[in-house]
Amino acid sequence: MSKTLGFDTLQIHAGSKPDPATGARQVPIYQTTAYVFRDADHAAALFNLQEVGYIYSRLTNPTVSALAERVAALEGGAGAVCCSSGHAAQIMALFPLMQPGCNVIASTRLYGGTVQQFGNTIRKFGWSAKFVDFDDLAAVEAAVDENTRAIFCESIANPGGYITDIPAVAKLADKVGLPLIVDNTSATPYLCRPIELGATLVVHSTTKYLTGNGTVTGGCVVDSGKFDWSASGKFPSLSEPEPAYHGLNFHGALGGMAFTFHSIAIGLRDLGMTMNPQGAHYTLMGIETLSLRMDRHVANAQKVAAWLEKDPRVDYVTYAGLPSSPYYGRIKSVCPKGAGALFTFAVKGGYDACVKLVDSLELFSHVANLGDTRSLIIHSASTTHRQLSEEQQKAAGASPNVVRLSIGIEDADDLIADLDQALAKATA
Ligand SMILES: *Cc1c(COP(=O)(O)O)cnc(C)c1O
Repeated sequence: MSKTLGFDTLQIHAGSKPDPATGARQVPIYQTTAYVFRDADHAAALFNLQEVGYIYSRLTNPTVSALAERVAALEGGAGAVCCSSGHAAQIMALFPLMQPGCNVIASTRLYGGTVQQFGNTIRKFGWSAKFVDFDDLAAVEAAVDENTRAIFCESIANPGGYITDIPAVAKLADKVGLPLIVDNTSATPYLCRPIELGATLVVHSTTKYLTGNGTVTGGCVVDSGKFDWSASGKFPSLSEPEPAYHGLNFHGALGGMAFTFHSIAIGLRDLGMTMNPQGAHYTLMGIETLSLRMDRHVANAQKVAAWLEKDPRVDYVTYAGLPSSPYYGRIKSVCPKGAGALFTFAVKGGYDACVKLVDSLELFSHVANLGDTRSLIIHSASTTHRQLSEEQQKAAGASPNVVRLSIGIEDADDLIADLDQALAKATA
């Protein structure tokens, strides 16, 4: 058998073996809080991280571990840690890197909730974010100061379908000696492989395409295992004796697995943002068909976006899969299998027409979610991006005259017909 398995094989097999106790072929839902130690020595070895095993499900659980291993394999990472939501994953990604007074350089083009989390909430930890236009690499570099500990962007940015030039940003991160964190939620590892493009960490809201059916909330942080945490002295939690784990030097003891072990042994232990095994099960089921779904999501998005762009009731469409997009040229290097299925379009008639459009659709569901098999729509300015200023809304690609689509895997012609009838009502 070939050593490097293909994506379609990994999405089914990675992290899963027949259950050693029962032979169960599907990953069982290990609905248990704790695990019996073989004896006192076994317990001590587990707590000392000398042996890998299960102690308590706030830290690790076999169903959740199978999912972590699968996502790590799909992203080409060394290890991964699953957590309770995509937002938890973002905190978990920053946690080992940051101290009070430290900052992260973040793209202006981010999920609205991330702008909130980074702009306000992380200040309570003494962390802060500097938001910069990532098309202006000189500005990104100028924003880096002695307290910067990470650079953060999305591969395909929600809501506008903007594509980040990850290879260029990764080169800059390398130059300034900082880890690059890429939120790969909208692209998934099928469309984009940030680690191969130079990212250090990849974060996911597994709530979206990875689960794919709108059933559970979850998140994941994948570590490339490639960053030298000891080189700069800026990451003492990883490179120096960690008082939170009886003085263990994670990077010294665990090398490329330092981040993953720190995230479990301290991050999950003390922050408790744990994914539950039932949730992991739904996401494992979803991932088995990820590549098939993503191909259809992309094909449908391409068709719907092209139809909208030609429609006189539409001002513009932001889909990067259209040659008219300024980001069309980045597809080849960043997401060669397609530009995803998330984009916005501007309706002639502005805010009021957008609200009417959303209310008139029959197949599209009006929800604050994306990455479902079902097609979804949201008017970001009146919902997810409501708490941002109009300037922030514009920067995030969520202007008042714009609606966001998450194109599902239904028949594209039915989606177009639904948009057609709703546009007629909205612009009457
Ligand atoms: C949904 C989403 C998040 C947050 O994930 P939750 O699972 O809802 O916490 C973060 N980033 C992106 C790009 C998202 O789409």
